[in-house]
Amino acid sequence: MGILVDLTKSRPPHPSEDILEEYVFGRLPEVLTARAEEHLLICPACQDALEQTDRFISAMKVAAQYPALAATTVDAGLSSLGGFNA
Ligand SMILES: [Zn+2]
Repeated sequence: MGILVDLTKSRPPHPSEDILEEYVFGRLPEVLTARAEEHLLICPACQDALEQTDRFISAMKVAAQYPALAATTVDAGLSSLGGFNA
């Protein structure tokens, strides 16, 4: 009983958006990467957040590489996130 209570209490807080962003970029220090991955395994909410961050950054990278396509690509990226339907 005590163990279950302790597990609940010791659940780490959600990593911030900044942390997830650095994680996607692969710039997170090793210790924080391990902690973030550990958290992501048990937290569907953060898995969603990571996926959205990943998708957004991918769209931004494409936009940076192909400025001519930037508008359409970013639009498509935002549309796929939902809530930006014209
Ligand atoms: Zn979380």
